[in-house]
Amino acid sequence: MRTPFVAGNWKMNKTIAEARGLVAEMAPILREVKGVEKVLCPPYMALFPVAAILTGTDIGLGAQNLFWEANGAYTGEVAPGMVAEFCKYVIIGHSERRKYFGETDESVNKKLLAANAVELVPIVCVGETLEEYEAGKTAQVVTGQVKAGLKGMEKETAAKVVIAYEPVWAIGTGRASSGDNAEAVIRDYIRKPYAEMYGDGAAQAVRILYGGSVTGVNAAEFFGQADIDGALVGGASLKVEDFVTITKAAVK
Ligand code: PEP
Repeated sequence: MRTPFVAGNWKMNKTIAEARGLVAEMAPILREVKGVEKVLCPPYMALFPVAAILTGTDIGLGAQNLFWEANGAYTGEVAPGMVAEFCKYVIIGHSERRKYFGETDESVNKKLLAANAVELVPIVCVGETLEEYEAGKTAQVVTGQVKAGLKGMEKETAAKVVIAYEPVWAIGTGRASSGDNAEAVIRDYIRKPYAEMYGDGAAQAVRILYGGSVTGVNAAEFFGQADIDGALVGGASLKVEDFVTITKAAVK
């Protein structure tokens, strides 16, 4: 059985002081929710102070990005080993990074391999834009991103990857996918190609999340689906009550 997984992506929100305040409020409630892997992904600046608050809890910490090189002349970038000092997880290939920062399937692949090399658990995001959705290209785009992202990855390392299906048209728009649509995409365009790459057993074990306007109200619709193992949550992860409600809904 796959352990449910819920991660909060705070994006570029919260100063260090604000992040401390939010985690101080959220962590004591969140740690009471058992049977689900819980991860908070604040901005880089807040990772160190938040790590201190989460020490001794079962709440994991994740970064929102990394660079693939180990060190060197890459002004403004953060290396995998630096992230791994504080974090167990890292989000890779979020659509906002693809859209605003030129992230490609190739860079996503390099980052995934680099994250694995330092034993970070990557949460890799895939998903089609509204234009692609309307043109009926969801299968091609999503499966293509999965295959290109995991290219060259051995079965053992690919097993640690968490995949998040995040239709771009549903992120931050309040227009979530239906549970049935998310289930069909995850089952047919992510888990099935993953099985073709790594075998049925591996595909049954890999965690696949839905992300895109998940709230305390609609979360159960996603978590009730056979192939959806949890959520990557943006806006609602900044609100204690909503994020706790979503996390509780993920428990099987
Ligand atoms: C996200 O940032 O990955 C996300 C899914 O955002 P939201 O939940 O706000 O749509």
